[in-house]
Amino acid sequence: MAFANLGLSAPLLQAISDKGYETPSPIQQQAIPAILSGSDVMAAAQTGTGKTAGFTLPLLELLQKGERPKHNHIRALILTPTRELAAQVEESVKDYSKHLSLSHAVVFGGVGINPQMQRLRKGIDILVATPGRLLDLYQQNAVKFSQLEVLVLDEADRMLDMGFIHDIKRIIKMLPTRRQNLLFSATFSDPIRELANTLVNNPQEISV
Ligand code: AMP
Repeated sequence: MAFANLGLSAPLLQAISDKGYETPSPIQQQAIPAILSGSDVMAAAQTGTGKTAGFTLPLLELLQKGERPKHNHIRALILTPTRELAAQVEESVKDYSKHLSLSHAVVFGGVGINPQMQRLRKGIDILVATPGRLLDLYQQNAVKFSQLEVLVLDEADRMLDMGFIHDIKRIIKMLPTRRQNLLFSATFSDPIRELANTLVNNPQEISV
Protein backbone atom coordinates (compact mmCIF):
# COMPACT_ATOMS: atom_id res chain seq x y z
CA MET A 1 0.00 0.00 0.00
CA ALA A 2 1.38 3.40 -1.01
CA PHE A 3 0.27 6.91 -0.04
CA ALA A 4 -0.56 7.53 -3.70
CA ASN A 5 -3.29 4.84 -3.55
CA LEU A 6 -5.17 6.29 -0.60
CA GLY A 7 -7.10 9.01 -2.42
CA LEU A 8 -4.98 12.00 -1.46
CA SER A 9 -4.24 14.67 -4.05
CA ALA A 10 -0.88 15.97 -5.28
CA PRO A 11 -0.32 18.84 -2.78
CA LEU A 12 -0.74 16.40 0.12
CA LEU A 13 1.41 13.71 -1.48
CA GLN A 14 4.09 16.37 -1.95
CA ALA A 15 3.88 17.38 1.72
CA ILE A 16 4.14 13.71 2.74
CA SER A 17 7.22 13.27 0.62
CA ASP A 18 8.68 16.53 2.00
CA LYS A 19 8.36 14.93 5.46
CA GLY A 20 10.26 11.90 4.21
CA TYR A 21 7.44 9.41 4.82
CA GLU A 22 7.62 6.46 2.46
CA THR A 23 4.72 4.21 3.35
CA PRO A 24 1.52 4.83 5.26
CA SER A 25 1.35 3.28 8.72
CA PRO A 26 -1.41 0.71 9.42
CA ILE A 27 -3.69 3.30 11.07
CA GLN A 28 -3.17 5.63 8.10
CA GLN A 29 -3.98 2.85 5.61
CA GLN A 30 -7.32 2.33 7.31
CA ALA A 31 -8.24 5.80 8.55
CA ILE A 32 -7.46 7.83 5.43
CA PRO A 33 -9.93 6.07 3.05
CA ALA A 34 -12.54 5.79 5.82
CA ILE A 35 -12.43 9.52 6.57
CA LEU A 36 -12.35 10.46 2.88
CA SER A 37 -15.55 8.45 2.40
CA GLY A 38 -17.25 10.99 4.64
CA SER A 39 -18.36 8.61 7.34
CA ASP A 40 -17.84 8.97 11.07
CA VAL A 41 -14.79 7.09 12.32
CA MET A 42 -13.81 5.61 15.68
CA ALA A 43 -10.14 4.67 15.77
CA ALA A 44 -8.22 2.94 18.53
CA ALA A 45 -4.61 4.04 18.14
CA GLN A 46 -1.80 4.82 20.54
CA THR A 47 0.59 7.75 20.22
CA GLY A 48 3.44 6.89 17.88
CA THR A 49 1.29 5.02 15.38
CA GLY A 50 1.03 7.98 13.01
CA LYS A 51 -2.55 8.73 14.10
CA THR A 52 -2.14 12.50 13.74
CA ALA A 53 -1.41 12.23 10.02
CA GLY A 54 -4.13 9.57 9.92
CA PHE A 55 -6.80 12.18 10.60
CA THR A 56 -5.06 15.36 9.46
CA LEU A 57 -4.29 14.29 5.88
CA PRO A 58 -7.84 13.23 4.93
CA LEU A 59 -9.29 16.20 6.82
CA LEU A 60 -7.19 18.58 4.72
CA GLU A 61 -8.16 16.72 1.55
CA LEU A 62 -11.88 17.04 2.35
CA LEU A 63 -11.64 20.73 3.19
CA GLN A 64 -9.58 21.52 0.13
CA LYS A 65 -11.99 19.69 -2.15
CA GLY A 66 -15.15 21.03 -0.54
CA GLU A 67 -16.82 24.27 -1.41
CA ARG A 68 -15.38 27.23 0.45
CA PRO A 69 -18.14 28.70 2.63
CA LYS A 70 -19.23 32.33 2.36
CA HIS A 71 -18.21 33.33 5.85
CA ASN A 72 -14.77 32.72 7.24
CA HIS A 73 -15.95 30.71 10.24
CA ILE A 74 -14.10 27.56 11.24
CA ARG A 75 -14.73 24.44 9.18
CA ALA A 76 -12.86 21.85 11.25
CA LEU A 77 -12.30 21.63 15.00
CA ILE A 78 -9.66 19.35 16.53
CA LEU A 79 -9.98 18.98 20.31
CA THR A 80 -7.01 17.73 22.33
CA PRO A 81 -6.58 17.21 26.09
CA THR A 82 -3.37 19.24 26.61
CA ARG A 83 -1.65 22.30 25.25
CA GLU A 84 1.42 20.28 24.32
CA LEU A 85 -0.65 17.97 22.17
CA ALA A 86 -2.59 20.89 20.70
CA ALA A 87 0.66 22.57 19.67
CA GLN A 88 1.98 19.32 18.16
CA VAL A 89 -1.20 18.72 16.21
CA GLU A 90 -1.15 22.25 14.86
CA GLU A 91 2.45 21.73 13.78
CA SER A 92 1.29 18.67 11.81
CA VAL A 93 -1.58 20.63 10.26
CA LYS A 94 0.95 23.28 9.24
CA ASP A 95 3.37 20.76 7.72
CA TYR A 96 0.78 18.76 5.81
CA SER A 97 -1.09 21.83 4.52
CA LYS A 98 1.99 23.69 3.29
CA HIS A 99 1.01 23.28 -0.39
CA LEU A 100 -2.68 24.07 0.22
CA SER A 101 -4.52 27.32 0.80
CA LEU A 102 -6.11 26.46 4.14
CA SER A 103 -5.54 28.46 7.31
CA HIS A 104 -5.20 27.16 10.84
CA ALA A 105 -4.67 28.24 14.43
CA VAL A 106 -4.22 26.73 17.86
CA VAL A 107 -5.77 27.96 21.12
CA PHE A 108 -5.14 26.76 24.66
CA GLY A 109 -5.24 28.08 28.19
CA GLY A 110 -2.43 29.45 30.33
CA VAL A 111 -1.57 32.20 27.84
CA GLY A 112 -3.28 35.49 26.97
CA ILE A 113 -6.66 35.20 25.28
CA ASN A 114 -6.50 38.47 23.32
CA PRO A 115 -3.99 37.40 20.65
CA GLN A 116 -6.10 34.27 20.11
CA MET A 117 -9.23 36.39 19.69
CA GLN A 118 -7.45 38.57 17.15
CA ARG A 119 -6.22 35.54 15.24
CA LEU A 120 -9.73 34.05 15.13
CA ARG A 121 -11.20 37.33 13.89
CA LYS A 122 -9.11 37.04 10.74
CA GLY A 123 -10.93 33.84 9.86
CA ILE A 124 -9.47 30.36 9.84
CA ASP A 125 -10.40 26.98 8.40
CA ILE A 126 -8.97 24.62 11.00
CA LEU A 127 -8.86 25.25 14.74
CA VAL A 128 -6.91 23.08 17.17
CA ALA A 129 -8.06 23.69 20.74
CA THR A 130 -8.15 22.49 24.30
CA PRO A 131 -11.71 22.39 25.67
CA GLY A 132 -11.55 25.02 28.44
CA ARG A 133 -10.06 27.80 26.35
CA LEU A 134 -12.38 27.01 23.46
CA LEU A 135 -15.38 27.51 25.76
CA ASP A 136 -13.94 30.82 27.00
CA LEU A 137 -13.51 32.01 23.42
CA TYR A 138 -17.01 30.89 22.51
CA GLN A 139 -18.47 32.79 25.45
CA GLN A 140 -16.64 35.89 24.28
CA ASN A 141 -18.18 35.40 20.85
CA ALA A 142 -14.75 34.95 19.29
CA VAL A 143 -15.52 31.65 17.58
CA LYS A 144 -18.52 30.65 15.47
CA PHE A 145 -19.44 27.11 14.61
CA SER A 146 -22.20 27.60 12.03
CA GLN A 147 -19.96 26.31 9.24
CA LEU A 148 -18.32 23.47 11.09
CA GLU A 149 -18.00 20.38 8.90
CA VAL A 150 -15.70 18.08 10.86
CA LEU A 151 -15.06 17.48 14.57
CA VAL A 152 -12.02 15.50 15.71
CA LEU A 153 -11.57 14.31 19.30
CA ASP A 154 -7.92 13.36 19.69
CA GLU A 155 -6.85 11.20 22.65
CA ALA A 156 -10.44 11.05 23.84
CA ASP A 157 -9.56 8.65 26.67
CA ARG A 158 -7.12 11.18 28.11
CA MET A 159 -9.74 13.90 27.82
CA LEU A 160 -12.12 11.83 29.93
CA ASP A 161 -9.34 10.95 32.42
CA MET A 162 -8.64 14.66 32.81
CA GLY A 163 -12.28 15.38 33.58
CA PHE A 164 -13.23 17.13 30.34
CA ILE A 165 -16.44 15.19 29.76
CA HIS A 166 -18.74 18.10 30.68
CA ASP A 167 -16.76 20.58 28.60
CA ILE A 168 -16.87 18.21 25.64
CA LYS A 169 -20.62 17.73 25.98
CA ARG A 170 -21.12 21.49 26.13
CA ILE A 171 -18.99 21.98 23.03
CA ILE A 172 -20.83 19.28 21.08
CA LYS A 173 -24.14 21.03 21.82
CA MET A 174 -22.83 24.20 20.14
CA LEU A 175 -22.00 22.47 16.87
CA PRO A 176 -24.22 22.00 13.83
CA THR A 177 -25.80 18.53 13.99
CA ARG A 178 -24.83 17.73 10.40
CA ARG A 179 -21.11 17.13 10.60
CA GLN A 180 -18.51 14.39 10.35
CA ASN A 181 -17.16 13.07 13.67
CA LEU A 182 -13.76 11.45 14.15
CA LEU A 183 -12.98 9.94 17.52
CA PHE A 184 -9.41 8.84 18.24
CA SER A 185 -8.56 7.12 21.48
CA ALA A 186 -5.83 4.80 22.76
CA THR A 187 -8.49 2.47 24.15
CA PHE A 188 -12.22 2.00 23.88
CA SER A 189 -13.31 1.70 27.48
CA ASP A 190 -16.96 1.84 28.58
CA PRO A 191 -16.88 5.63 29.23
CA ILE A 192 -15.47 6.21 25.73
CA ARG A 193 -18.17 4.03 24.20
CA GLU A 194 -20.78 5.98 26.17
CA LEU A 195 -19.40 9.26 24.80
CA ALA A 196 -19.26 7.75 21.31
CA ASN A 197 -22.95 6.85 21.53
CA THR A 198 -23.81 10.53 21.86
CA LEU A 199 -21.30 11.62 19.23
CA VAL A 200 -20.86 9.33 16.23
CA ASN A 201 -23.37 8.01 13.72
CA ASN A 202 -22.86 4.64 12.13
CA PRO A 203 -19.07 4.89 12.49
CA GLN A 204 -16.42 2.88 10.73
CA GLU A 205 -14.37 1.30 13.51
CA ILE A 206 -10.62 0.97 13.14
CA SER A 207 -8.04 -0.53 15.42
CA VAL A 208 -4.36 -1.26 14.97
P1 AMP B 1 1.76 10.27 15.98
O1 AMP B 1 1.39 8.85 16.32
O2 AMP B 1 0.73 10.95 15.17
O3 AMP B 1 2.13 11.05 17.22
O4 AMP B 1 3.07 10.23 15.03
C1 AMP B 1 4.29 9.66 15.48
C2 AMP B 1 5.47 10.07 14.59
O5 AMP B 1 5.46 9.33 13.38
C3 AMP B 1 5.49 11.53 14.19
O6 AMP B 1 6.79 12.02 14.45
C4 AMP B 1 5.24 11.53 12.69
O7 AMP B 1 5.94 12.57 12.05
C5 AMP B 1 5.74 10.17 12.27
N1 AMP B 1 5.01 9.58 11.12
C6 AMP B 1 3.68 9.65 10.89
N2 AMP B 1 3.33 8.97 9.79
C7 AMP B 1 4.49 8.44 9.29
C8 AMP B 1 4.81 7.61 8.15
N3 AMP B 1 3.84 7.18 7.32
N4 AMP B 1 6.09 7.26 7.95
C9 AMP B 1 7.05 7.68 8.80
N5 AMP B 1 6.84 8.45 9.89
C10 AMP B 1 5.57 8.83 10.14
